[in-house]
Order: sequence, then structure tokens, then C-alpha cells
Amino acid sequence: MLFYKILEKAKEDNSLSKEEIIELLDSKDNSIYNAADEIRKKTKGDNIHLRALIEFTNFCHCNCFYCGLRYDNHKIKRYRLKEDDILLSVDNAIKSNYKTIVLQGGEDMFWSKEKICNLIKKIKEYDVALTLSIGERPKDEYKAFKDAGADRFLLRIETTDKTLYRKLHPNMSFENRLRCLKDLKKLGFETGTGCLVGLPNQTIDSLADDILFFKELNADMVGIGPFIPHPNTPLANEKKDNFDLSLRVMAITRLLLPDINIPATTAMETLRENGQIIALQSGANVIMPNFTSPEHKNKYEIYPNKVYSNNCINNISEKIKKIGRNISNSKGYRTDPTKL
Ligand code: SAM
Ligand code: SF4
Repeated sequence: MLFYKILEKAKEDNSLSKEEIIELLDSKDNSIYNAADEIRKKTKGDNIHLRALIEFTNFCHCNCFYCGLRYDNHKIKRYRLKEDDILLSVDNAIKSNYKTIVLQGGEDMFWSKEKICNLIKKIKEYDVALTLSIGERPKDEYKAFKDAGADRFLLRIETTDKTLYRKLHPNMSFENRLRCLKDLKKLGFETGTGCLVGLPNQTIDSLADDILFFKELNADMVGIGPFIPHPNTPLANEKKDNFDLSLRVMAITRLLLPDINIPATTAMETLRENGQIIALQSGANVIMPNFTSPEHKNKYEIYPNKVYSNNCINNISEKIKKIGRNISNSKGYRTDPTKL
């Protein structure tokens, strides 16, 4: 089918076959970005949600091949924030009018179910939505986090290519990753997932599967990250610029899941000047500025040369205004249309 026919079908039905997705991914036609922007405007409006990201630990027992926090990277200086320091960052974010806190970290078992639950309860004393991004845990722990007040959970599937998944994640299992995402959905979390784009041996075919997976899961948030090689990992020499392909995956995701929340990721800004603004004009509606204290945030090096240019609220508000958008005053759930 012709590119434009597929695009029209996507805009009308929010559904595409795998072959149609591949056709859109393979094309160099930029009108896909305008189509995604049009759908975003219709379903989510012009408001952009800012989420305050606090990277509270860089300890991790996993060994994901792409990530600078992997267990076998002995060059990284490890840190674990104290509860009071985390609450200080939360307080700063609230004072800057943020409505969502995102607690992200490596898979750090020091942070037991009980410790995380206590932290959740303290954060939820503020009138704020709370997102966790702390990796795979048993269902009873996820349930305890939900009962303690956490609202959302981010866990990227990373890739739906099972062979590739197994190669890149020693001692982890694709099946358990899926189990986690299904548990999170069942427990009533707004569930975020996503993938890395540009991994070695990843195919366009498997990226199409990733997009269909987001749709099948009915993900509430999808974060698409261009893979950026980290020098102290087994993928150090996999140099490629994955910006354009990531943007395409993101735009198609918007076409198929019109009402979800989609962040303009920091990795996009790291690869391109104004990468996040370009993403916001290609289907995204969320930005996650970094609220980790300055002495720690450089140690949360999942990939090198992370860019923080959009962390200053004045800086980002100005850029957002320039593209005719506004900063939202609400918590920005997926489903409540009165709180867009
Ligand atoms: N440990 C948790 C997890 O894996 O879900 C949360 C923290 S982890 C650092 C957050 C995300 O960073 C991962 O889902 C992964 O997609 C991304 N990431 C890791 N290494 C990366 C790299 N080299 N380039 C781009 N993104 C990367
Ligand atoms: Fe750990 Fe997450 Fe990095 Fe994997 S991606 S090594 S789980 S921090």
C-alpha cells in the first residue's frame, strides 16, 4: 500500500498491520511526524506534562549489556541517596510546581519492599502523582507499592526480539519481564514500557513487533530511547546515530496509541540539539527534567554525555512557549480527559 494510504489508515483507525508499520519505518518521508503531531494535538491537547526525575540509586545487580550502571562496570562510583535527601529533592520539585515525581534506579535490593513502601508513603503526603522505575520485582512487592500509594510504573521491555533479549540480558528472562508488565497492569498501575532503538542486530521487523507489543499491552506510557553506547560496556564500539529511527518509532506509537503519555527522552536531546523539542513536535507530550542532586546526577551514567539543558524550568518553559505549547498544571494521567 502507498505510504500516504497507510498514514491515513493509521490516523483513522489507530491500527496497522506489521507490514504497514515496516513500510512506515522504512520510508524517509517526514510527513509521519506531522501526522503524529496532529493526533497528539487532538487527543492530548497542547499541554506538556513535566515529571521530576530523581535517580535515587545507581547500584544494580543486573548486567544489561548496554547500560553504564551494569554490575560489571567497576569504574563507576556507586551512590545510594538517603531518604532525607530524596525527600529534599521531592520538596524542591513540589516548590517548582511539579505534579509528578519519578523515582528511578538500578535494581538495588538494599531498597527492600518495606523501605520503598515507607518512602512512597512519605512522598504521597504531598499532593503529587508518583511513578516508580526500579525494575523487576515479585508481584507481592508491586502490590505493596500500589497499596502504599504509587500510581505509575515504568518498565521498558527493551526489545521484543527474544533471542536478542537473552543475549543482552544475562541471567534475566524475557518471560519474567512480561510477567512484571502484566502484573503491573492487573494491579492498576498506569504502566509504562518502551524500547531501545539501534541495538546491535535489532531489525526493523523486530521494531515493528515492539510497536505492536505496546498496543497489545495497552501501555499507558511509552518511552522510546535511542541506544547510546557506553564505553565501559560490552557494546562500547557499537557506534550509530539512532535519532531518526527512534523518532519514527515514537511517531508510529503515537498513531497507534493516540491517548497515551509519551516522553521526549533525554537520550534524544543527547543525540540532537533540540532533540526533545523535535520529539514534542512529533507525537510526544511529556518531559522528565532531572531533580537528582548535582553531586550525584553525573554518577547516574547509563550512557555518556547525558544532556541536561532542559532541566531548568525557565529554559524549558520558554522553549515550550515558542512552539505554541503550555506547561500543564495537572498530574497528567492517561485516562482522565478533564485533567489534560
Ligand atoms: N533499572 C531500571 C530498569 O532497567 O527498568 C530503571 C533504570 S534503567 C537505567 C532505565 C532505562 O535506561 C532502561 O530501561 C534502558 O532502556 C535505558 N538505558 C540503559 N542504557 C542505555 C543506553 N546505553 N542508551 C540509552 N538508554 C539506555
Ligand atoms: Fe540495571 Fe536498569 Fe541498567 Fe539494566 S538498564 S543494568 S536493570 S539500571
